[in-house]
Amino acid sequence: MAGLNPDVYDVVVIGGGPAGASAALYAARAGLKTLVLDKGLYEGAAGRAQRIENFPGIPGPVSGAELVRRIRDQARSFGAELREEKVLRAEVLRNPKEVWTAAGMYLAKAVIVASGALGRNKFLPGEERLIGRGVSYCAACDAPFFRGQKVAVAGSTTEAVEEALALSSFADHIIFLASTTKVLVPPKLWEELQAQPKVEVKLGVRITEILGQDRVEAIRVAGENGETIIPVDGVFPLLQGTAPVVDFLYGQVPLAEGGCLVVDGEMRTPVPGVFAAGDVRCKQFRQAVIAAAEGAQAALSAELYVRGRARPRIDWGH
Ligand SMILES: Cc1cc2nc3c(=O)[nH]c(=O)nc-3n(C[C@H](O)[C@H](O)[C@H](O)COP(=O)(O)OP(=O)(O)OC[C@H]3O[C@@H](n4cnc5c(N)ncnc54)[C@H](O)[C@@H]3O)c2cc1C
Repeated sequence: MAGLNPDVYDVVVIGGGPAGASAALYAARAGLKTLVLDKGLYEGAAGRAQRIENFPGIPGPVSGAELVRRIRDQARSFGAELREEKVLRAEVLRNPKEVWTAAGMYLAKAVIVASGALGRNKFLPGEERLIGRGVSYCAACDAPFFRGQKVAVAGSTTEAVEEALALSSFADHIIFLASTTKVLVPPKLWEELQAQPKVEVKLGVRITEILGQDRVEAIRVAGENGETIIPVDGVFPLLQGTAPVVDFLYGQVPLAEGGCLVVDGEMRTPVPGVFAAGDVRCKQFRQAVIAAAEGAQAALSAELYVRGRARPRIDWGH
């Protein structure tokens, strides 16, 4: 459990898509104390896939979310623990390794990174300069700083909706902006957002710039009716792109061009005890079955590492 003196997990898996859930299944079945941290079933590529009909053994079209749900259930049946929490930071050069979420810290002997490749490719103009000065990515961490204020949340995912709802306990006015006209979030959650009187929903609108000298002062938004400037005190840009999701590693694991994680044939990164599987690693083919198989490999390698039976590492030349 997260807190000041948590238990040490054998393996913490970051991401519970096809790669992470399969890694958890294998790790738990091997008897390892296994935790999966995932920020939401609909946040990854699998959660976005409406119809999958090429996953071996599952002939009928199945949604990616349903496929992942089944793998997660199988992992749970072997004892894996799954928590819906977003990883904010992982200290992977320490032993045990520390994995931080808004709920606290988890300790792990090994970490499997399976966070996919729907990360942001670039910042909005003004965003990077104003991080910590009104730009935030974590309502659980920063919402109290926006008490009585006006904030914008940009995104079209479950995470974005949940962050907007979390902010509604503190901020006076939340503008929820999605560039699409439809959002892929559970209907009940969407209804909850729309019923929240402090929230104003704007669909088909995107932020083009975050404005402000020393702090966020406004956002420039573009939509069907052209551009407008809306004064706000804070912005939560919870947007998706196509970059590997490695922000929580803060450069501790070497990345290849394109920001992907390099692994050897056994899914080992150059950092001892850190493994990677699925779309987050450098690869040509992004498919659910490939991600699942890599998750299994990463777990088997993690098992050897945790039990002290890992064979010597390859010389990476770094
Ligand atoms: C629209 C679409 C259709 C597709 N159709 C097919 C198909 O028909 N057949 C096929 O085989 N493949 C298909 N794919 C590709 C397939 O979905 C991916 O290759 C596969 O899902 C990759 O699995 P993954 O586990 O590596 O990543 P993902 O599925 O992206 O899962 C990553 C997980 O990590 C979690 N995560 C990310 N960051 C954090 C964080 N900081 N903290 C905690 N959790 C985090 C996310 O919530 C997510 O659940 C499709 C993809 C898309 C987008």
